[in-house]
Parts: sequence; C-alpha cells; structure tokens
Amino acid sequence: MELTGKSLIASQPGSEGKTFRAFEPASGAAIEPPYHVASAADVELAAQKAVEAFAHFGRAPGTARAALLKQIAANIDALAESLIDRAHQESALPKPRLKSEVGRTSGQLRLFAKVLQDGSWTMPCIDRPDPARKPPKPDLRSCLRPIGPVVIFGASNFPLAFSVAGGDTASALAAGNPVIVKAHPAHPGTSELVGAAIRDAIRECGMHPGIFSLLFDSGVSVGAALVQHPAVKAVGFTGSLVAGRALFDLAAKRPEPIPVYAEMGSTNPVFVLPGALAARAPEIAAQLFASVTMGAGQFCTKPGLIFLSKQPPAVEFVHVMQEKISQAAPFTMLTSGIRSAFTRETEARTHRIGVTLAAAAPMAPDGESFSAIASLFETDFPTFLASSDLSAEVFGPTTLLVRYDDPRQLLEAARGLAGHLTATVFATADDVQKYPELIAILENKVGRIVFNSVPTGVEVTHAMIHGGPYPASTDSRTTSVGSQSIFRFARPVCYQDCPDTALPAELQNANPLGVWRMIDGEVTRQPVLGA
Ligand code: NAP
Repeated sequence: MELTGKSLIASQPGSEGKTFRAFEPASGAAIEPPYHVASAADVELAAQKAVEAFAHFGRAPGTARAALLKQIAANIDALAESLIDRAHQESALPKPRLKSEVGRTSGQLRLFAKVLQDGSWTMPCIDRPDPARKPPKPDLRSCLRPIGPVVIFGASNFPLAFSVAGGDTASALAAGNPVIVKAHPAHPGTSELVGAAIRDAIRECGMHPGIFSLLFDSGVSVGAALVQHPAVKAVGFTGSLVAGRALFDLAAKRPEPIPVYAEMGSTNPVFVLPGALAARAPEIAAQLFASVTMGAGQFCTKPGLIFLSKQPPAVEFVHVMQEKISQAAPFTMLTSGIRSAFTRETEARTHRIGVTLAAAAPMAPDGESFSAIASLFETDFPTFLASSDLSAEVFGPTTLLVRYDDPRQLLEAARGLAGHLTATVFATADDVQKYPELIAILENKVGRIVFNSVPTGVEVTHAMIHGGPYPASTDSRTTSVGSQSIFRFARPVCYQDCPDTALPAELQNANPLGVWRMIDGEVTRQPVLGA
C-alpha cells in the first residue's frame, strides 16, 4: 500500500497543511513521506462523524462488533510483512520483537471478539418487581453501555500493540464506542498502515465509517483539541507522566469533565529478600539484567529500583550485574527526545552526591544516531529515603540498587513508595512467612505483584492488571491491558419498569443471548420467570 501522509477521517483522507517527518532511529535520516498535520476542520469532522456512528455502533449487537474486531485482526495479520518493515524503520525495534507485536495486536483484538460473543461482560443485573410491597417495588435492570466517542493516543514504545489498533482501541471498540486515534509522531507510516486496515475492515463489515478516524500531529495541538471536544466522552493514553497529567487536567477543566485513562511512568520496585538472595543471587541478577535492558529499557514495566541487602550474598549479585552491564552493546532508542531525556537523567545521577555509578557499558561508536548505553547505579538506604526523585522513572536501560542494612528497612521503603504498575518480590517460602507485611503494603501501592520473576512481559489475558495508583495511572481502579480494560469505556445504565422490547438484549426476559446475569442477587443464565 502506498502511504499518503494524510490523516484518515471516517474513511476519507484528511486535509493537507504543515508537514512533519518520522526519523530512522538507527541513522537519524528523515523518512518519506511527509505527514500532514490534521487541521481544526479535520478534528471537527472526525468528532462529528464519531457522534453519527455512535448512534448505530453503540447499539449494534456484540456479535457484529466481534465480527469487526476479527476482520481488523485478519487485515493486520495480512499486512504483517509491510507493518514489520515500516515499524522497524521508524522504531529500530528488532524485527522478531515486531513480529510478536503484530501477533499480540491481532491476538488482543480476537480476545475482545471472544468477550463479545457472550454479553456477560456487561454485568446484567435484574431485581424483579414486587407490586404487593408497600410502597411497590419497581422492576430494576442495569447493565454496562458504551460511553461515547473515545480518543486514544498511540504510544511510542509499542508502535503496534499500544498504538492505532492496540489494546485501548480494541477495548473501546469492543465496548461499542467510535474511536479517534491521535497517532504518535515517531511512527506515522506504521500508524497509517494500521489505520487503513481498520478502515477496510469497517467497509468490509458494512459499518458506519465514522467508527474510526486517525489524526496526525507532531505537536500537542491536535491531541489537546480532541480531548477538549464536547463530543469526546473518554480518553486512553500511554506515555509520560507530564503528558498524561496535562491531558487529565485538560479533561477535568472542560465544562463537561470526562475520564482520562492514562497509563504513565512507573519504576517497578524489586525487593530481593534475604533467603532468595542467599539461594540464587547470580540467577536473580541475570534475570533482572535481561529485564532492565529488554527493548532498550523502554518498557513501562522495566525494573528501575532494586532493593538489595548489604550482606555477603549480595556481592555475587552485584558482580554479575556489573559484568553484564559493562559488556552490554549500545542500544538504539526510539526517538531523539527519549534518547536526550535518558542521557540527561543518567548524567544527572552520575554527578549526584550519595549515588555512585556501579557499572556502565562502553560508548557507542560515532555515527550511531539515537544510541544510549546501559548503566547501573547504587545508593544507600538513607540517601534513597531522603530523595523522592530517585524513585522517578528513567526510561531506558538503567536501574538503581538501593542497599539496605536491615530487612525491616524494606518495609519502610515499601511504605514510602508512590503508585507503580508493578512490584516484584524475590523470596523463598520462608521469606514470605517472615515478611507478610511487605505483600500487604504492596497491595496498596501497585497493580500487579510479581513473585520470583520479572515484571516485563505483560500477558494479555482476563486476569491481567496493568495499572496502579497515581502516578502509575490516573485511575487505579482500571487496567489498560487484558479483557477487563473494556470496563474503562462503558458505564452502567439502570432501566426502571422498562418495556421488554426496549431493553438491551442482555436484560430481556427471555435472555436471548444466554448470558450470565444476577437476578435477585443470584447468578444464573435462566430467563426471568413469570414476567
Ligand atoms: P509523551 O511525551 O508522553 O507523548 C505521548 C503522546 O502524547 C504524543 O503523541 C504526544 O504528542 C502527546 N502529548 C504530549 N503532551 C501533550 C499535551 N500536553 N497535550 C496533548 N498531547 C500531548 O511520550 P513519548 O513521546 O513517547 O516519550 C517521552 C517520555 O515518555 C519518555 O522519555 C518516557 O519517559 C515516557 N514514556 C513512558 C511510557 C510508559 O509506558 N510509561 C511509554 C512511552 C514513553 P507529540 O509527541 O506530538 O508532542
């Protein structure tokens, strides 16, 4: 497919105007074609078409939406080769990683299609009436309904799985909402290819084209205009704390505030407990090194903070980490901005009192464009406690060891944590018995607690939670990965004494979809009897 460099507004090309280009991270060279920044008229049209589409799409049967998701998945799989080539050029991510990202992207679309085959996800709940009661009790039925047009921001670090047809888009469409995507400017060509796959699927399924629009911009104006547009009812975002918070504040200041589901930075603390350290220090160090440097450390689940004792078994741990870090080849970062931020933040740590550079990889040869090197920093417990900035995310291949004297300090450290996506505990059964409080504290600090493994590698399943208390996300009650992410883009509606024919199928007496419902407090698939 030939790239046009234009936004896609309800299946039609957007307007021409000021342009920007993506860059090859490996060479720094600009990539063709230039991309036209969406105009105010494009934003308006996308919003208007989304409202029109919502009137149909929001009430379409789940099976019709499932068919659309499956068609998008099939179109993406059919495009895999060109998607991988373009995404590799725009992100420098290795092709095998991008191949698995294509599979993850189509896989999560199919996961939501499966969820829709059964309307149980809408949590139908029925309280039967009691006309004899004084006062009479009405017939009350509630379930989840779509929220309205949703704006999604593509992420830089997952050009496919967290971008145009990523988890946010899949979950918003699954819930019955039209989606307007603001593409990430680092990978516009990949975004356009995926956008075309969605456009074609909508046409192939005979659905309203306003269900999907894709807008380009290399600055903040288009994103800000979309978040402020009165037709938009929710926002999905993955990226930095600064940007996520700015969008959250913009949405809160609207005359009609709307929810912003922003998944932002996280340092993902790791607690290496004494028993586990004594039993397998070198293995844990090797596992953590691989996790810190995976994808050049550009994962929101990268372990950036490791609590480690000063006892003798830790010597081996530190030695393995130092050796691996100092032998790591240079990495190519996603964008020049991410590379500059990483270099600036690691340099600042190098000069910081109380923090030492424990290991660093050799510099990249000249000519490597967006390159960065791995590093390992170390600090002691009092310095860490006195410096809240040391728990902030540094996006890239680096991590900080915090050395403790007494395992009780682990609890103090855990209590002082802000919100994170994950916390990891390396522990023996004996460690778990000795520190039950640690788990209790972590439950209030993170969305996922990982035992004896690494936090990178987020499964897309029903039980997965990828979220956490602020600043990991703007709403700790939600996840942005897995089938439960659909709940962000739906809201409960109650129907009182509503005629059966006007009810959503999930709530009708006969239970035509055969869904699980709560009737008078009991979960059942039975029809409503005697109605
Ligand atoms: P970003 O700065 O958060 O930007 C993400 C998207 O939001 C881009 O499309 C950006 O548009 C848009 N945006 C930013 N500020 C905005 C505003 N005030 N109003 C409207 N739109 C706005 O992320 P990034 O460019 O990918 O990387 C920068 C840093 O983000 C990284 O160094 C890293 O620290 C962090 N990051 C974190 C994660 C994570 O998963 N936690 C993932 C990726 C990045 P423009 O680019 O067009 O300005």
